[in-house]
Amino acid sequence: MKYFIYARKSTDSEERQVLSIEAQLAELKEFAAKEKLEIVASLCEAKTAKEPGRTVFGEMLDRIEKGEAQGILAWHPDRLARNSIDGGRIIYLLDTGKLKDLKFPTFWFDNTPQGKFMLNIAFGQSKYYIDNLSENIKRGHRAKLRKGIWPSFAPLGYLNNHKTKGIDIDPEKAPLIRKAFELYATGEYTLKAIAKILKDAGLRSYKGKVLSVSCVQRMLKNPFYYGVFRFNGKMYDGSHEPIISKKLFDAVQQVMNNRGKRKRKRKHNFAFSGLMRCGNCGCMITAEIQKGHIYYRCTKKKQKCNEKYLREEKLVEQLKAIIQKVSLPDEWAEKMLAEIEKEKEQAKQETKSLVQNLLDQKAAIEKKMDRLLDLYIEGKGIEPEEYQAKKQKLLNEKLEIQQKIKDFEQAGNNWLEPMKEMILASSQAKILLSQSDNSQIRTFLKNIGSNFILKGKKFHFEGKIGWRALLNSPQNTNWRRGRDSNPRCRF
Ligand SMILES: [Zn+2]
Repeated sequence: MKYFIYARKSTDSEERQVLSIEAQLAELKEFAAKEKLEIVASLCEAKTAKEPGRTVFGEMLDRIEKGEAQGILAWHPDRLARNSIDGGRIIYLLDTGKLKDLKFPTFWFDNTPQGKFMLNIAFGQSKYYIDNLSENIKRGHRAKLRKGIWPSFAPLGYLNNHKTKGIDIDPEKAPLIRKAFELYATGEYTLKAIAKILKDAGLRSYKGKVLSVSCVQRMLKNPFYYGVFRFNGKMYDGSHEPIISKKLFDAVQQVMNNRGKRKRKRKHNFAFSGLMRCGNCGCMITAEIQKGHIYYRCTKKKQKCNEKYLREEKLVEQLKAIIQKVSLPDEWAEKMLAEIEKEKEQAKQETKSLVQNLLDQKAAIEKKMDRLLDLYIEGKGIEPEEYQAKKQKLLNEKLEIQQKIKDFEQAGNNWLEPMKEMILASSQAKILLSQSDNSQIRTFLKNIGSNFILKGKKFHFEGKIGWRALLNSPQNTNWRRGRDSNPRCRF
């Protein structure tokens, strides 16, 4: 595959911290050499990407249409496009296959619907997300907090009211949650039993999943249900209607604390044993206690192995760095979810007319079949063989159309739903950073990846599709905040 290098230095004052063209070119050439990319030409532009109509950019796209190259290498997506027209042209070229790849040292792109979605966000980010949105959302958060409104996704049992911007009780789920508190407070039910009761009663998470035991535990520890909440380390009196009393909440905490003590004495729970394999010999990694610390080590079942012991704290440190990398700020998640809803609606509208069209075609064929049958029954000069042949032809056409309708209806949102789940999970990931609940971290890791390896005291794994874009971005803060203000940059 052949690539164009594209560098742009804009004259916008807001972009003044961006690398000079020379520095961009040097970095990009080094990157190309490292990645062994074949470069056709290096193109430079000094105009802003806010307005469409840049000459060099336009010429580059024309040359790509002609097939001179199939890829572009640039410092960051915002070098390519900061307006929807140019961004749209890039996406269009990707959709039509004229453009096959984009590479950025500061942003990881893959040519999938998810990748294009991320790219779109990155194109828009500097202009809209950075400049206005994040500040607006923060302002919105502050205004909400002043009014005692939880400024994020409502916990289970509550619903975000998008009209009033407040938080309403979920009339279906709230009674079940109250019941869970009441039962647990009696001290006669384990968390597992409560989880089973909730499952049988039909309580499901927003993602439609059965609540896990640790999920139930977190729920029972959440003071939101009696009317207060913690945000950025501060407690707030919520304006939402409580589901339970403070008294009931305290009773539940009492039961939980007593149980916790007993359990901790009884047996050790190693959060990450059996999760990873040894990168050296392929055996499972297990855990043991040495001098009061938990260590993870190779089981060495196959052969002698010199993989070193790793202290749990050191492992958790590495895991939290991964979570940090994939966690989205709420304001981003909210915006991305809104974007997905928009895409979904658009896809629905597009499919609607296509499906309608197919339904019309199907009706027309059915009509033809009826007429054919009439002619045949009335004996108007159609031989049985001819009738059979014609009927079969129409039937085949009909089946084909039916299949198309089915495909359309199914294919519509096939990547939007997983994307939505990913965004929800990733916006909730940061909660894990402030907690010391290692079993939650384990669950989260299993959600985002597989093939966990411990090698040379370093944790490795394969990210699942969708998560790779976040995991592989060289600096996660880059595509969120724009590199211009990124303090981790060398420049
Ligand atoms: Zn080993």
